[in-house]
Order: sequence, then structure tokens, then C-alpha cells
Amino acid sequence: MLGSVKKQSYFTLAIIVLFSVFIVIAFVFLNGVTSKLNSETESLVHDMVHGNTQAINSMVKADISTVTNYAACSSKYKSRIRVELMTELKNLTEDSGLLNIIIIDEKGDVISYRNEDINVSYRDYFKRAMNGEIVVSETIYSEPDGRMVNVFAAPIYGDYQRVIGVVAGMNNSDVYKEILDLSVSGHEANAMGYIIDSNGEVLMAGASLFGDYTPVGDNLYQSDFVASFTEQELAVLKDEFNKKDSHGMIKSTDNNGKEYVAYYATLGVDRNLHYFAVFPADVAYGKLDGYVNKILVLFFFFIGALIFTLIAYLIFTYNSFKALRKANEEITKVAYEDTLTGYGTWGKFEKDAKYLLSQSYRKFAFVSFDIDKFKAINDMFGHEEGNRILKQIADIVNRNLNNHETFSRINSDNFYLLLVYKSDEDMIDRIKKIIYALEYEITNFAPVISFGIYRITDTKLSIRKMGDLADIAKRTVKYGERSAYAFYNEEMLLEIREEKHIENEMQNALDSHEFCVYYQPKVSLGETPYLMGAEALVRWVKNDTVVSPAKFIPLFERNGFIVKLDYYVMEQVCYAMKTWESLGYKDIMVSVNMSRVHLSDPAFPDTLKSICDDYAIPTSRIEIEITESAAYESLEVLTKVFEKLKSLGFHISIDDFGSGYSSLNMLKDLPADVLKIDRAFLTESVNNKRANDIIAYVIKMAGSLGMDTICEGVESDEQITLLKDLHCDMVQGYYYARPMPTHGFEEILKGKHETIRINKEN
Ligand code: C2E
Ligand code: CA
Ligand code: CA
Repeated sequence: MLGSVKKQSYFTLAIIVLFSVFIVIAFVFLNGVTSKLNSETESLVHDMVHGNTQAINSMVKADISTVTNYAACSSKYKSRIRVELMTELKNLTEDSGLLNIIIIDEKGDVISYRNEDINVSYRDYFKRAMNGEIVVSETIYSEPDGRMVNVFAAPIYGDYQRVIGVVAGMNNSDVYKEILDLSVSGHEANAMGYIIDSNGEVLMAGASLFGDYTPVGDNLYQSDFVASFTEQELAVLKDEFNKKDSHGMIKSTDNNGKEYVAYYATLGVDRNLHYFAVFPADVAYGKLDGYVNKILVLFFFFIGALIFTLIAYLIFTYNSFKALRKANEEITKVAYEDTLTGYGTWGKFEKDAKYLLSQSYRKFAFVSFDIDKFKAINDMFGHEEGNRILKQIADIVNRNLNNHETFSRINSDNFYLLLVYKSDEDMIDRIKKIIYALEYEITNFAPVISFGIYRITDTKLSIRKMGDLADIAKRTVKYGERSAYAFYNEEMLLEIREEKHIENEMQNALDSHEFCVYYQPKVSLGETPYLMGAEALVRWVKNDTVVSPAKFIPLFERNGFIVKLDYYVMEQVCYAMKTWESLGYKDIMVSVNMSRVHLSDPAFPDTLKSICDDYAIPTSRIEIEITESAAYESLEVLTKVFEKLKSLGFHISIDDFGSGYSSLNMLKDLPADVLKIDRAFLTESVNNKRANDIIAYVIKMAGSLGMDTICEGVESDEQITLLKDLHCDMVQGYYYARPMPTHGFEEILKGKHETIRINKEN
């Protein structure tokens, strides 16, 4: 999960880098496009202006040559007949398309076909032409024409190259006006054209695009147009205008801050005349701006889209990060919070324990506990009640914790505690306190709790391993009759290994008949002790050593192997009884121990019956011994099984009575035939008046409930005397005989035993 967050942040970084690269590329591209468009616009303008220059050039050239040619052949104008001359001027005027062509004599008097009597000696163009210049005049008002004109003037040379007059052609300045202006990208007259001479004088100007105002004024060198020019720039411009052949583009800003672009080109006539087209910059670049704007819009649209995408992505990332964190929190909660108790889980315990243990200056004990047969609580009271009890246990444990301690429910009813450890005594006190609180507070059920304590001596062990060691200790006290605790020690490990060993061997032992049945006589307490029958007790005979059932029965009960073993014993018993029958002992009653583990198997009574049937042993000759403690799990189930066994004809004995918590009152409804009083009871009773009274009471009550009584573990005369006095029906114990192999018991049957006689009735 963290990995993907990391990946995501790499991704975000990549997006940001990409985004920046994109912006840089976009700017470079935009720049490129702009300068490309710029140069393209310039060349477009150039082409247009150039084209126009050609047209103007040829017009000016034509007009100039009209007057120069005529001047060249007019050296004799003074001697000519006036009328003829006037007709010639008229014809020439009409051919040239000029308004009027005149000859001016050196005094300034005009010879015109219109016969005007005027003197133009004051005119600048006249003076200059008289100086030998070919003149294109600035725009002036011509009175006879009643309009603005431009005058083309050329000197007439007489003898010795003396100027003797001037030929002047008036041209309607509107004709030039129209052609001087230019339009870019289809707009009407958005460049104003001028013809300017090398002194910067404006000779002709197009229709004023700028209204009354023209940035070029009368003289370019003194105009607004060059207001922003440095002296050097102006010098360069003048220099350009002095060349016979030049063209170029210049930019300027006038006094009002308005920007212009001008294109100039020499007209290529004798005099240095220049076509000069001025565009307001916004017009010149209008087209370009349009493109740039479009590109800019597009560009910003992309940038916007990108920013939007980026923001959306970041929001998405942030949200998914938030969701991820929330999910992580949920997972942590699931991992660390036990929903049932509201306290920690194994995960939390492991984490906390590791942390606490890292504080090496404290000593700790690892405690494991659970409730014996907790499953029975669920069965008896339902899961809801079971859960409630678990919550109650957790609350109690929590209350009993000190600082720097922790606990968790690991699974079902298994709890782990990490407690600060001072001494064994202190630990025992605390365990007892917890046991007391649990027993006191869990009211509807008397819990038997087993504790295992591992004094943490090796902090390098994993928490799991420490738990295992505490569990091992716990197992040694489990399934006792009351709450208990044990400290882990290394022998326990040996025991566990031994158990593993037994488990590996048990099936093979069963197959190879290593399990043998011993018989311990049951003797009636009459004047003379009569043999009533025997109890079958299993032994594991291995390499001539006899292993007591105490060593393996509890293990087999835990791993379930007891079921097989009990049926095996049952078969061995039936087989033996068959043999005894053949020897003539037909009425011997044998009791067989059956583990409470069978109670959960509904087929149990029928299985026993079918074994008896296989050997044709009447069920009435078999007594089934089931321990009193079986009643704890479920009295109801026990009653049902007893009833079934009874209906199949078996005798039933309640074994080990008095060792547990059951009272006769509790067992009174069980259809048992015999009540077997526990050995421990008897041990105490000889010198203990109260125990005596209880035995007396039990025997009496059993009698009144229709049950026979038998006392086991009888070892002494005193005990015999006592039991006789109390009217106990039977006894069993070393006093008469120890459990013995079949052949030993057969000896007794044959009457070879000194004290035990065969029952009279047999
Ligand atoms: P239990 O059913 O209470 O059996 C009586 C135990 O008391 C036997 O121990 C017996 O040898 C012992 N005993 C008899 N008289 C005296 C006496 O005077 N003094 C002393 N100190 N002990 C006496 P054992 O044979 O070691 O069996 C132990 C337990 O193992 C039995 O207790 C029974 O619960 C279980 N067990 C034995 N065989 C089987 C079997 O085939 N199936 C099942 N499920 N359990 C069996
Ligand atoms: Ca028994
Ligand atoms: Ca017993």
C-alpha cells in the first residue's frame, strides 16, 4: 500500500516535470511561430510595397520624361509662333494625361495653351528648375486648375548650357494619392504612402489615413515619425535616403506613443525620390496579431486544459490518497481492534509487546490463559452469552493491568497478557486476583481457568515463541478440576516432546497389541469378601515396561485417539469374557471406562452394543464407567447417553464421584446403577469426621436413589471397617488386589486367591 503511494508521488512528479517541459516547448514554439509570422508579414508588406513602388516609379518616370523630353526639344521656344506652341502644349497635355503642360520663361511668365497670364517666378519648383534641377514639386495649390497639384519641372537649355526656361507639367495630386496608399490584408487604405526626397521633404502624400494628422508631416526628418529616433538612427535613415538605390523597413513611435512601421524604397528616377509607406503597427501586424491571438487562445486553452487536468489529477490523487489512508486506518483497526471485546488483537499485542520489551530495564512475564471447555458455554448458553462473557473477561483483565502492561484476546477464549514481573509470589498473587475476579463476576457459570506463565528470560525470542512457551505451561494444568497456573520450565518441553513421541507411536502400538487390559477385582463387603467382577484398566506394555494410563489417557483425550482405544479395550474385554465363559465363569460383571469424549458421538451407545454383539456378550454383563465431571459439559447430553445405554441393557457407573463439583442432587435424575466414590474422598475420610459424614450421607442417599455404592482405592483395614459400617456395597483397591493381567485374574476366578471368594451365586 505504501508502495503504491510512493508510486503515485513519482507519478505526480513526472506529471509536473512533463508539464513544465510542455510549457517551455510551448513558449519556444510560440516564439518561433511569432517570429516566423513576423518575418512573413514583413515580406508580405515588402512585396506589396515593392509592387506599388514599381507602379509609382513608372508613373513618376513617365511624368518626368514627359517634361524632360519636351524641354529637350524646346530650346527654340522663344522664336516659335505662339499659337503653334500653344497647340503643341495642348496636344501634349492631352496625350500625357497631365492637367496642364506649360512653358515658363526665365522671368517666370507662363506660356499655356489655356492662355493664362500668370507669373510663377516665386514658385520653388521654378527656381530649382531654373537652377538646372529636374523637379518633382511638393503638393501645391494651382489657381488656374483650382486644385492641388504636383508639378514636374525640367530646365530648358539654350546655348552654352544656359537655362532659358522651364517645362512644367501639373499633375492632379489625387491621381498619385490613390496609388500612394496601400491596403494590407484587404483593408482599405491602411497604409499611407508618401513620396519623399533626399532632404526629407514630403512631395506627395496619400489620402490622409490619419485624418488631418500625418506622422510624417511636411518633412520626414523633422516629423513625429522620427521623434523617437536617436541621432544615429536618423543619420542612418538620411544616409539611406541619399542612396540611389535602397529599400528597407523602419519602426517608430510618435509623440503620442503610437507605433508605426514604414517601408521605403528609392523610386529610381534621376533625383533621389523615395516611396515611403507608413502603417500604424497594429494595422501592419493586425494579420499577424490575428494569428498570434488565435494561437495564444489555443495555447492558453491547452495550458488551461493541462492545468485543469493537473488539478483534477492532483485532487484525484489527493482523494485516493485520503481514501487509501482511510482504508489503511480501517485495516489497522481491523488488524488491531478486536471487535468482540473492544480491546486489542494479536497484531496489536505483538506490536505493543515488542515495544514494551524493548524497554529493557523492566522484567516481564508472558501469561497465557483460557477457560476450560469454553465451547460448552457456547453450547449451553448460546454464542451471544459466550461473547458477553468474553467481553466481561476482557474488562476484568483490563482492570487488573498496571502501567507498561498489555493484553489481547488472541482467539476464541485464549488471552495473552504481558505483565511486569517482580517475583513469582507477586505474579501468583496477581493471577489469583484475576482468577478471583473472574470466578466472582462470571455468575451463571463456574469457570475453570488455566494459566501458563513464561518468565521472560530471553527477550530475543519472538512474541509468538514466548506465547508458545506460556501455552506449554498452561497445557500442563489444563483440564483440571479447578483454576490453576503453572510457570514454564524446560522439563515441560521434554514432556511435550514425549507427547509428540507418543502420538507418533500410538496407532502402531494399537495395531501391534501393545495396549493390554488389566483387571482389578471388585469385592462385595459382606462377612466374607466375594468377587463381584472387575474393572478393566488399560496399560501400554512396551519392551516389557508397563506404562500407566495416567501418562497417555489425558493426551489421547485431547487428540481424540481415546475413542479408538476405548473400543479396543471393549473388544479385549468381550474377548476375555468369552474365554472365561468357556471356563465356566458366565456371570462375571466387568466395568469398562469410557471417556467423556464419546458423549459427542451419537453412535457411541450403538457402537458399544455392536461390539458386545460381535462377541455375543450380553450388555447386562458390562458396566460402563463415566466420570462425574462429564456432567459439567452437558447434563442433558449425559442423561440422553445414559438413557440410551440403559435401554441397550448396559449397567452404568458414575466414576470418581466426589472429586468434582457435582452434587447428588444434580445426578439424581441420571439412570445410573452404581455410584463410585472417589479414592481421594476415602483418603481423607478416615481421620476426618466431616468427610466421614459426607461419605455416610452419600452412601445413604445413593441407596435411596436406587444406586449401589462402590469405594475405590481401598488400601487399609480401617477403611474396610469404616465402609462396612456405612453399608457401602462394594470395594475395589490394593487392599484386595492390584490391577492384573488376564491370566492373573483368571487365577482368582479359579478360586486360587487367598481372600477373595467367587460370589456364591456364581
Ligand atoms: P479410574 O477409572 O479412577 O481407575 C481407578 C484407578 O485407581 C486405576 O488407576 C487403579 O489402578 C487405581 N487404584 C485402584 N486401587 C487403588 C488403590 O488402592 N490405591 C491407589 N493409589 N490406586 C488404586 P489406573 O489404572 O492408573 O488408571 C487411571 C485412570 O485412567 C483411570 O482412573 C481411568 O480414568 C483411566 N483409564 C484406565 N483405563 C482406561 C480405559 O480403558 N479407558 C479410559 N477411558 N480410561 C481409562
Ligand atoms: Ca474407573
Ligand atoms: Ca475412579
